Amino acid sequence: MRTDTFIDIDGAAGEGGGQVLRTALGLSVATGKSFRIEGIRAGRARPGLLRQHLTCVRAAAAVGAAEVTGDTLGSTQLAFRPTRIVAGEHTAAVGSAGSAMLVIQAVLPALLVADGPSRLVVEGGTHNPSAPPYDFVAKVFVPLLARMGARVGITLERHGFYPAGGGRVVVEVDPAPLHPIELLERGEVRRIEARALVSAISPGIGHRELKVLRDTFALDRDQLVVEEVPDPRGPGNAVLLEVRCDGVTELFCGFGERHVSAEVVATRVAHEARAWLDGGAPVGEHLADQLLIPMALAGGGAFRTRWLSSHTTTNIEGVRRFVPIQIEATENGVVRFG
Ligand code: AMP
Repeated sequence: MRTDTFIDIDGAAGEGGGQVLRTALGLSVATGKSFRIEGIRAGRARPGLLRQHLTCVRAAAAVGAAEVTGDTLGSTQLAFRPTRIVAGEHTAAVGSAGSAMLVIQAVLPALLVADGPSRLVVEGGTHNPSAPPYDFVAKVFVPLLARMGARVGITLERHGFYPAGGGRVVVEVDPAPLHPIELLERGEVRRIEARALVSAISPGIGHRELKVLRDTFALDRDQLVVEEVPDPRGPGNAVLLEVRCDGVTELFCGFGERHVSAEVVATRVAHEARAWLDGGAPVGEHLADQLLIPMALAGGGAFRTRWLSSHTTTNIEGVRRFVPIQIEATENGVVRFG
């Protein structure tokens, strides 16, 4: 590897999770800047590159025609030197139930600014705890990218739940200039929809989850759907609450777990959604995290969130390392770019 300038990143700083790495990968390829990272995921119980993170590295290396060292399972350091953005067909398979959606997160920034259209197929988990579920990306994030001018299509071809995985998502990107948007007001709530996905388990679980959400938010029958996953690879359950407002759509989710009742899973989702509704800010905790990169690439814009999580503040620092843009976070939860 050549010894040109690298941006040095401390993977242990702040949140110390996988986001630090994914932000670096995405923005490295998008901006053409090389980076070195040490202490990868030092803040997590099993530090270093897990299969999902390694898949992100490999996918970003393919899109960025990058020279990479340290890309082995368990590695806590990596050097990454992209050479150009390769538009076109890309495939990535996590090979476990690790999140396919997080692989998309790592390479989408580069595909958005490539000089030609791309099609990315990712296999892995589509509905994983601690990651955006497919529905969040499709219904919340991609529509906001579209408002910024991006042309991104996303399709769920197969669901993948922990532990079986085996999901498949296709992303099509036709690059267009990104322009700044402001997300400062939520506006009126127009519609709430609750869906329970059940894969190779009794649909009764989904009905119990939806009953909790129906009672909490006074939903009608046409706002409730239990969806049995076709061609299931293994057992799985997700409960998704989509809240469409004039200014933004948000989506809250929970996942069925052994020894946790359907009612508890749905109650957690209800609490999270209620806190967001009562807080009044349009951008939820996770969306705040994920908006940073496209807003920085757009060179401007602003959003308002209720409070900045350590994930979001860590991610702001990560973005600043690659994009020379002012990012101002004020005490009232407004984050302003440019
Ligand atoms: P990390 O924990 O550092 O690997 O990052 C997790 C990523 O998943 C971040 O981009 C979060 O914003 C995102 N994320 C986690 N949970 C959710 C959720 N329930 N909805 C949407 N995004 C999520």
